[in-house]
Amino acid sequence: MKIFAVGRNYAEHIAELNNERPKEPVIFTKPETALIKNGLPFFYPDFTKDIHFEVEIVLRISKQGKHIDEKFAHKYFNSIALGIDFTARDVQTKLKEKGLPWDIAKGFDGSAPISEFYPISNFADLSNLTFSLLQNGEEKQLGNTNMMLFDFPFIISHLSKYFTLKVGDLIFTGTPKGVGPIAIGDHLEGFIENKKVLEVNVK
Ligand code: MG
Repeated sequence: MKIFAVGRNYAEHIAELNNERPKEPVIFTKPETALIKNGLPFFYPDFTKDIHFEVEIVLRISKQGKHIDEKFAHKYFNSIALGIDFTARDVQTKLKEKGLPWDIAKGFDGSAPISEFYPISNFADLSNLTFSLLQNGEEKQLGNTNMMLFDFPFIISHLSKYFTLKVGDLIFTGTPKGVGPIAIGDHLEGFIENKKVLEVNVK
C-alpha cells in the first residue's frame, strides 16, 4: 500500500509558510509505518523539537488505474477519511534549504494518524466539504475542500501519470492554514463537517 500526500494545496497555507504557489501538485509519500489508527497515541520522537499538525482529507483508492483521465477520476475512490500529516518542521526546513528530500521530516513512524473511512455517498458535495482540527479544545484549523488549488480528480489523474494507483492506496490531499506545533500532553480532535472522527493524544 502506498501513501501519497499533496503539499501546498491551499493558498493561505502556502502564504503562512512563505512557499511558492505551485503550477502542479507537490507530491511526496509516506511509508505504511507512518499510519496511526484513530484513538492510538502519538509518541513524540526525540530527533525534532518542532512537529506541526496538518489536518487533511484522505482519499482511499478503490480501483486500480494508470493514466486516469480527470473526468473519470471520481470512479477511482469510494471513501474518505480525516488524517493528520505530522511534519517535523525544523527537520524539513533544514532539508529544504539544502534542496534535499523531505522523507524523514514527513514519513517518520506515527506521522500519519488517520480516522475510519466513510463512504463518499455519506457526503452531499465533496468539493464543498468542511473539516477542522482542535488542539486542547481550541479550533486551530478550519478548511473547506472548495479552497483546494488542485481538486480530487485532478490529484488522482496527476498521480496516475507517474504511479499505478492500487486498491487501498491513500492520498492526503493537503492542509488549510493554521498549522502549528504540538507538545507532549496535547489532545487533538479532528472533524469532518460537524462529526468528530479523529482523536490523538500526544505522549
Ligand atoms: Mg500536508
